[in-house]
Amino acid sequence: MVMRLDDVLQRIRTLDRDVEELRRLRARLPANRAFTSGMQVAFDRHINELLNEKIQLEELEVEHIPEDLLNDIASVDVATASRITVDREKKEYELTSEDKKIMEFIRAMPKTEIHLHMEACINQQTLQGMLDKNGVPYESEQLKKLYQFTNLQEFIKLFLFIIDSIKMAEDFALIFKNLRQYLESNNIRYAEVFLAPSRMIQNGLDYRDIADSLDSLSRECRNSGGPDVRFLIDVSRTFGPENASKNLQRVLSNPRPSIIGIGLGGAELMGPARDYRDVFAQAQAEGLRTVAHAGEDDGPWSIRDTVELLKAERIGHGTSAVQDPALLELIRKKAIPIEICLTSNIFTGKYVRREKDHPVRRYYEEGIICTVNTDDPEIFHVTLSDEYFKFHKSLNFTVSEIVDLCRQGVYATFQHNPATMWNQFKPQIDDLRKKFAL
Ligand SMILES: [Zn+2]
Repeated sequence: MVMRLDDVLQRIRTLDRDVEELRRLRARLPANRAFTSGMQVAFDRHINELLNEKIQLEELEVEHIPEDLLNDIASVDVATASRITVDREKKEYELTSEDKKIMEFIRAMPKTEIHLHMEACINQQTLQGMLDKNGVPYESEQLKKLYQFTNLQEFIKLFLFIIDSIKMAEDFALIFKNLRQYLESNNIRYAEVFLAPSRMIQNGLDYRDIADSLDSLSRECRNSGGPDVRFLIDVSRTFGPENASKNLQRVLSNPRPSIIGIGLGGAELMGPARDYRDVFAQAQAEGLRTVAHAGEDDGPWSIRDTVELLKAERIGHGTSAVQDPALLELIRKKAIPIEICLTSNIFTGKYVRREKDHPVRRYYEEGIICTVNTDDPEIFHVTLSDEYFKFHKSLNFTVSEIVDLCRQGVYATFQHNPATMWNQFKPQIDDLRKKFAL
């Protein structure tokens, strides 16, 4: 297919306008009428078709691109997974002395983190140690290359390599050591961490051993004055609802104080939320806490299903919610926190490509509960402190707003009494603000 660039851009603009119009009409559907939900689905479908056409246009190779159009293209808001790239050049911000003070303040500020994956907390050196211990042959050059992934496929390759390198439950001790270092160096006092056991179990590990290992590591860490780490078991949409249900039964029949609930992660486009309704209903009936990744790789309908059908208590990512104002209102009304993972969202590039375009600014201003998270700290080479700083530098969050995000991060946890935690954090934060004159 050969098209003139001007025509492509014109068509994209038309699509944007039509999508906008459809969303406007969709938002005006009357609530609680017999036809409403059917109509909403029809609107969503139509919007999705148009967005898919837009994505196809955006995937066309551009042979001759006029200089003055480069900026226009950069501002097109829906990117596609196929064009994911990682900008490995460390972005050197122009740091003013005020910025440096803010960075130091952020580092010292006590924090929580509630969206990160245990498998992504192992650095190259520790992985190497684990492979040595397990007698698995590898080439260190190859390992280095794996950590220098440049697209989603390579990222997944590294993720799977890490999982397959775990040969016994004791290996979690090595990963946990990295996790604890990461948490302590960012002054994260409380964390809820995902672990996806499906592939590990396929590889021959026993869930009970995994649960015992996680629970004792978490307990030892707390008892030795370290951060409070709790786990959410990812039932995973990649392997289908039947496997997810099996994972849930494993969690239920092996209760451990450090394992507090389940998450729904994995390939969003492969597993619509509605297929996991029974798994979530049972988990909730049994008193487990429930969260789900949604709107990272699929449209706002995926988030709506997660809220309405799964009744998930928090949304992971939620980036595509920005496309549906009525959904944003629903999330705000129900006070469902969104776990924002800025760097990760730019990496997957599906709904946002530049930090300054991230919808979190809008979510925050509309009164939605937003929390700051890294998703995959050791393999993205990001820290929670960096992420908070990006909120300031790229999205103009003031120091007071940063403190407010920190507060929201405390109240969005599954701690029984978050107010107690906040009452510990607050005076420390006040002292730091005085110390740094912020
Ligand atoms: Zn995640």
